[in-house]
Amino acid sequence: MIALSLAEIAEVVGGQTHDIPDPSVQVTGPVVRDSREVLPGSLFVAFVGERVDGHDFANAVVEAGAVALLASRPVGVPAIVVDDVQSALGALARHVVRRLGATLVALTGSAGKTSTKDLIAQVLARKAPTVFTPGSLNNEIGLPLTALSATDETRFLVLEMGARGIGHIRYLTDLTPPQIGLVLNVGTAHIGEFGGREQIAQAKGELVEALPENGAAILNADDPLVRAMASRTKAKVILFGESGEADVRAENVRLTDSGQPAFSLHTPSGCSEVTMRLYGEHHVSNALAAAAVAHELGMSADEIATALSEAGSLSRWRMEVTERPDGVTIVNDAYNANPESMRAALRALAAMGKGRRTWAVLGKMAELGDEALAEHDAVGRLAVRLNVGKLVAVGGREASWLQLGAYNEGSWGEESVHVSDAQAAVDLLRSELRPGDVVLVKASRSVGLESVAQALVEAG
Ligand code: ATP
Ligand code: MG
Repeated sequence: MIALSLAEIAEVVGGQTHDIPDPSVQVTGPVVRDSREVLPGSLFVAFVGERVDGHDFANAVVEAGAVALLASRPVGVPAIVVDDVQSALGALARHVVRRLGATLVALTGSAGKTSTKDLIAQVLARKAPTVFTPGSLNNEIGLPLTALSATDETRFLVLEMGARGIGHIRYLTDLTPPQIGLVLNVGTAHIGEFGGREQIAQAKGELVEALPENGAAILNADDPLVRAMASRTKAKVILFGESGEADVRAENVRLTDSGQPAFSLHTPSGCSEVTMRLYGEHHVSNALAAAAVAHELGMSADEIATALSEAGSLSRWRMEVTERPDGVTIVNDAYNANPESMRAALRALAAMGKGRRTWAVLGKMAELGDEALAEHDAVGRLAVRLNVGKLVAVGGREASWLQLGAYNEGSWGEESVHVSDAQAAVDLLRSELRPGDVVLVKASRSVGLESVAQALVEAG
């Protein structure tokens, strides 16, 4: 964080100082909510959770070097006490980003936020010091904590914003007002909670409504609901995508023999060739989004293309490819799943698996509401159309819909199986995998199929 005194912080958050002998002492270390992350000079933010109360760690964090707590009650050690810790944290973030000399880039979308955020960060970091959301910490707590980790040196602050309802993104953009706002796509993720795609678009579009006139709204030209957000912003609009009208676009998109996407990157300032290290054609869209941000921030097509070609995944369990010593390839995409990412992952599997035996170990896609049956059925069917060798559907009702889709598309008997749980899937694959096979493992977060991927990696 930029150095701030406890007195200044107390004023910004409207809090009372308790047990603080010297209010001019500065917070010089990270602002954290996890006691294990405290470093000398830290401010520890004490949340009261369902199972743990951060206040219980008061003595421990001070011993570990925290200069004070941001807390909702006095704790006998130095603390700034407020009524509502979450809004105090937000107010502090808002204060700090105003004083930073950094450009704020915020992004949202149904699928690919973290992947794209990681790409943007890796591209921009080549130009100037960049701070970005770690992992997927994209909510009202993770976002201010990330913003507070920026320093005086930070030039770019890249923030993932998640929306679980109308008004969420507006709340987040109030805390950290972006200069550049990127919307990736409006898919079916969390559709059950929202009610429909129109509502999702309404919620995500709050990002571009928050942009200033001299800002830039970066929108996916290939997604009609995102494209339409152009009318909701005062900022300049930059379109990315494969469509001809996009300002930043990809031509000659293809998958290399190893399943990695390659394309010609076109920007208003020039063209350059990209061959990605990441797997899955959905990363073309993510890469174009990152390219549009970087172009807006003054990077050349060549610089961007080199950065995109060298970028790796920074986050776990997203198309994580492991080659086992016996020649079996495990693709762990178990972080999460929605219909769009299921299709992209199956197509990547098909490309990687040319001439090899392929397996798709799939579990349910959560939160699909009324569309759940149709979407699982469609994924099962696509697996057959892409000639995936064997579908292993894992879990309950949704898994049976996956298998039924495959069955109805013309796959029966041995080509698709339904197993009740992760252990059964591991047992089946352990006995049946042969050298050269490629296995994709993917489901929604709640299914936890990474245990299958890990067991298969270790079995090699
Ligand atoms: P969350 O809402 O959980 O934070 P996210 O939007 O950050 O998700 P990622 O973590 O990047 O998304 O990716 C989630 C899943 O979506 C992964 O399985 C990934 O392979 C897939 N995915 C990534 N980019 C896209 C895209 N552009 N379109 C569809 N699926 C994608
Ligand atoms: Mg994410």
